[in-house]
Amino acid sequence: MNIQQNISLKAFNTFGIDVNANAFAEVFTAEDLSIALQYIQQHPQPLLILGGGSNVLFTQNFSGLVLKNSLKGKEIVKENRDKVFVKVHAGENWHQFVLWCLEKNFAGIENLSLIPGCVGAAPMQNIGAYGVELKDVFHELEAVEISTGSSKTFSNQDCEFGYRESVFKKELRNKYIINSVTFMLHNLNVSEHYTYHIDYGDIKAELAENSVFNLNIKAVSDAVIKIRSSKLPDPKDLGNSGSFFKNPVINNDHFAALQLSYPLIPSYHAGAEKTKIPAGWLIEQCGWKGKRVGNTGSHAKQALVLVNYGNAQGNEVKELATAIQQSVMDKFGIAIEAEVNIY
Ligand code: FAD
Ligand code: NAP
Repeated sequence: MNIQQNISLKAFNTFGIDVNANAFAEVFTAEDLSIALQYIQQHPQPLLILGGGSNVLFTQNFSGLVLKNSLKGKEIVKENRDKVFVKVHAGENWHQFVLWCLEKNFAGIENLSLIPGCVGAAPMQNIGAYGVELKDVFHELEAVEISTGSSKTFSNQDCEFGYRESVFKKELRNKYIINSVTFMLHNLNVSEHYTYHIDYGDIKAELAENSVFNLNIKAVSDAVIKIRSSKLPDPKDLGNSGSFFKNPVINNDHFAALQLSYPLIPSYHAGAEKTKIPAGWLIEQCGWKGKRVGNTGSHAKQALVLVNYGNAQGNEVKELATAIQQSVMDKFGIAIEAEVNIY
């Protein structure tokens, strides 16, 4: 394993922010990882684990070691009636794994097609899209504790998954390196009795447009890919980290009060006495949608996505995010929280 000094992270984050890391290494094997951890113990410094860099915003140089987790491999570890358990190493590309499942006829993550990044980061924020979350198909994960080098298995419950949340984003932030995730998928080769998730957004309309009469996971994935591609900026063309903010969940009383002033406010039930409001709508109402500020701005097709028009500094993006948060607070009395990990 090669530890490089003073490396630009521009190619390693989808926002395309140009900051440097004091040290950078990519780990491909368990041995590389243990060498890296020994190095950290001998040369104490901050450590940042990176997958695909699609959920980070760098606002300054990183004065420590950035470790890109590129552990590869996937294997079927268990089969139980119509369930198949697949263990996937952290450095595998998420969307490639989705495509592999489609090929094998394993159902469960077709709605999560085209999400950028690596498998190891997926539990971090319990990735979700189109009515499906990672936790719905998660069995367990293996992680190494950075301070001791010891391995630990986390069950679904241990991960404390929530809406774009997990224990790894809270109490255990920066404490563990996730090395593999085991998924429990539905094996359509054994049983075709499977509940598809197509009630969300435009999926049904897209399936109808594609004349899909016999539902199948490939058709759902294709529909999701087409919808996503039509409105989300491809980081290759325009730097971004997807939704910058989480959708806020507010009390029903607060929602009822807002409805009096904004009868068209969109909303979704979010558990007892709670309502979820799409943050993109709130941001749009504040006049930010499609607005450019210097080298950054809110995307014209999805206000929730902040973009880098070319040479944005991380701080410019952060300042824009703060201004957006302030105006949503002023207009609606709602605090919107960043989903992206800011360093
Ligand atoms: P990174 O950005 O590399 O890391 C994210 C965080 O996880 C960092 O804090 C990092 O330190 C930590 N981390 C990474 N790997 C590990 C590891 N092995 N062990 C411990 N910690 C680790 N997200 C959704 O949930 N749903 C979506 O639909 C979605 N759509 C997106 C669309 C676009 C265009 C973009 C750019 C992003 C989107 N995202 C979405 C956000 C992002 O793709 C996901 O959160 C993804 O899981 C991040 O993976 P990554 O490998 O790029 O993580
Ligand atoms: P959309 O379909 O325009 O919907 C706007 C928002 O309304 C979404 O954020 C979604 O919340 C919510 N929503 C829509 N239909 C819903 C339903 N039936 N029940 C509950 N909530 C509903 O959103 P979009 O921007 O095109 O994104 C589509 C999906 O991809 C969403 O699930 C979104 O989370 C996901 N996505 C995530 C990221 C990211 O970086 N995190 C980026 C792009 C897309 P939820 O977000 O809670 O699902």
